[in-house]
Amino acid sequence: MTKNRVFRVSLLAVALLMVSAPLHGAETKLAVFPQLPTAPANAHYPGNREPLLASPLVKLPVGAVKPRGWLRKQMELMAEGFTGHLDEFSRFLKPEGNAWLSPKGEGDKSFWEELPYWLKGFGDLGYLLDDPRIIKEARRWIEPAIAGQREDGYFGPRRNAGQSPDVKAGKPDMWPNMVMLNALQSYYEYSGDERVLKLMAKYFRWQLSIPEGDFLLPFWQQQRASDNLASVYWLYNRTGEPWLLDLASKIHRHTANWTGGVASWHGVNISQCFRGAAVYYQQAKAPKFLAATERDYAMVRDLYGQVPGGLYGADENCRPGYSDPRQAAETCTMVEMMLSHEMLLAITGDPKWADRCEEVAFNSLPASMTADLKALRYLTAPNMPLSDRFDKSPGLQNGGAMLLYDPRSHRCCQHNVSHGWPYFTENLWMATAGNGLAAVMYAPCEMKAKVAGGVEVTITETTDYPFGDTVEMAISTQGEAKFALSLRIPAWCEKPAVIINDLPPPDLKVPTGRGSYVLIDRTWKAGDKVTLRLPMRVAVTRWAKNKNCASVARGPLEYSLKIGEKVVRVGGSDKWPAVEIHPTTPWNYGLVLDEKDPAASFSARQKSGALPAQPFAWDVAPIELEAKAKKIPAWKLDHKGLVGTLHESPVKSDEPIEAITLIPMGCARLRIASFPVIGSGQDAHEWPEPPPARHTASHCNESDSIDAVSDGRVPKNSNDHSIPRFTWWPRCGNEEWITYDFEKPRSVSAVEVYWFDDTSAGRCRVPKSWRVEWLDGSQWKAVVPAGAYGAEKDKFNRVAFAPVTAKQIRLVVQLQPEFSGGILQWRVE
Ligand SMILES: [Zn+2]
Repeated sequence: MTKNRVFRVSLLAVALLMVSAPLHGAETKLAVFPQLPTAPANAHYPGNREPLLASPLVKLPVGAVKPRGWLRKQMELMAEGFTGHLDEFSRFLKPEGNAWLSPKGEGDKSFWEELPYWLKGFGDLGYLLDDPRIIKEARRWIEPAIAGQREDGYFGPRRNAGQSPDVKAGKPDMWPNMVMLNALQSYYEYSGDERVLKLMAKYFRWQLSIPEGDFLLPFWQQQRASDNLASVYWLYNRTGEPWLLDLASKIHRHTANWTGGVASWHGVNISQCFRGAAVYYQQAKAPKFLAATERDYAMVRDLYGQVPGGLYGADENCRPGYSDPRQAAETCTMVEMMLSHEMLLAITGDPKWADRCEEVAFNSLPASMTADLKALRYLTAPNMPLSDRFDKSPGLQNGGAMLLYDPRSHRCCQHNVSHGWPYFTENLWMATAGNGLAAVMYAPCEMKAKVAGGVEVTITETTDYPFGDTVEMAISTQGEAKFALSLRIPAWCEKPAVIINDLPPPDLKVPTGRGSYVLIDRTWKAGDKVTLRLPMRVAVTRWAKNKNCASVARGPLEYSLKIGEKVVRVGGSDKWPAVEIHPTTPWNYGLVLDEKDPAASFSARQKSGALPAQPFAWDVAPIELEAKAKKIPAWKLDHKGLVGTLHESPVKSDEPIEAITLIPMGCARLRIASFPVIGSGQDAHEWPEPPPARHTASHCNESDSIDAVSDGRVPKNSNDHSIPRFTWWPRCGNEEWITYDFEKPRSVSAVEVYWFDDTSAGRCRVPKSWRVEWLDGSQWKAVVPAGAYGAEKDKFNRVAFAPVTAKQIRLVVQLQPEFSGGILQWRVE
């Protein structure tokens, strides 16, 4: 089976399918639906009130779904790991001068997003684990937010009311409070503390009073204001105050326009904001809003997400020309993407959002943290065979130690990752219209909720999913309960089976290529059991837009080469080390596929016995795939330790065929998950040796990159900020230099230099003068130029000279007095 698994779903029309009728007597009805009904509204849980669009699914309150098995282990590790102890590392959680802890929101420290980012998941972690330490610590931060509310309704750090560094002076920055509202909502769902509803109503009144011209000014709050919108609907569904919908309209009017297209190419903005149009769709109801959300998702995956793992390359931002599987996703992008999918699932009922959420949760999120959840890295990519502390820019846009697993670093991700697993758990089950329940995503858990007639039922879910294909649900209730139990069938599953109380399973026909739900409507009693089987088959995806590489999935899991991982401590303390992970086995393989039936190239090996407590680790992966491959000797790490980009498949290789092992991507912190495919004959391509260019310089500004000078990217002008650059900033007025190092001596007869000059924006200028020198033995000598050394803006300045044969040449540059300088591109002839 070779097809594009990601996009085939959206191409199929939505149609109602009734394929199975009464079963096991008249009292049990079982049917398959592509969507869930939206009426009658659930009587026990607050879905959308009129005039908002009716809710097919309603999130249960925090604590209704509790984790078990491997999922509980993730959260216990979180509690023991850096999330549960972040106050020991993060300066943003230090009490001294902390504006979030101040009873009046005073103080100049820690006033922005970090504390609420962390609290948003940290509190939920405590509620789900019933951990008194965490619950108490969360309350410590929640209380001042409530108690310190101003008379006019504003709450939180006063600096954000008018002195945020991110918003025009004097105007409010509401972004940090958007995150804090989520923490407060969870606290309310857990505790029923009515003060939260009062605080939110009063705060939203304040927001309504802000003049339109001052409301949601750029940048972050304007991008991400649909989070604010979702909280307004959350309150509206609980209190029904009509003016809240006026505020909702106002928020939408001032939110960055994600309905018209992707409004920001920042990685986290994308994963967080694409959901916004669909959030507003609940009020506006025009199909264009829902369509915009799907279009934005599809566009980003199409351009930058031609990879397994459910994400896209935005190693800070998406960049034209950077769509290789080595491009990485930020950890914030992962958890915001999961939250988007969870929200969109509730809004639409469309099971594709559950498939997409599981894809990120199982394949990407676990690898963002060490297996003991004591450290995280900023960036994770589908192809990443080395995770060390060294700068990988400009191959990755982010400079610095972005691949180092470090509990003390990575600021936004370090705090925001806290809601990943807790929110996932809370959304495993949802209430349905008609007072039923739906298992929308699968993992071991226990769910307690009310159904028709107000009866409370508990359903205990026992499963090794996603590593196993069977989900067992044990129902417990006082007396009897008549309700519809809906089970999501993922799009990848062609032949699901539902077994009720060991009776023979009915013949279920589900639509191919798209998800659906099996609804079981019956009178349930204690001791009833439902077994769901979701048989998994290997599926090979060829990514035509990413050099025709291949990825391998089996059910919800996508697979990576199993690379031996050696953990190397390079910092931190014994208890909280910062670690690199180095490969101990080769990784530069191309797959040898059965041309007629690529999926037949793999055989699955499920390990017997109980799952390991923490299954997301390379050496205990519960399931492995055997495959055949050949090494591609020219596929190497570049000199910065970043994996070389892919070349077009099929690829030639004269190496012998070897047996290799694949493990789930979520288990692999070092990974090759986008494989070249080995071919032979005329169609097969040679894999070229990587370019040898290297540079050294007298200085390189830490947020710039020395390698940018020869990355081949042609600037639009000398003030082009859209591409990586090299600068000597902040050095001004000096003589500086930069070299071009060749692997072996070569003849050079001209260079072309495109100078960086940010007049009007900064203090870099074209140089006062410059010259080319070549290394003769151990002596630098000036070349004999055939013309002038140009220092013009917005063009390549070419100078030819009498040919020299050298292993190294350099530019020696005299900067203008009081100005610095830099280079966008440097070519050598
Ligand atoms: Zn982040």
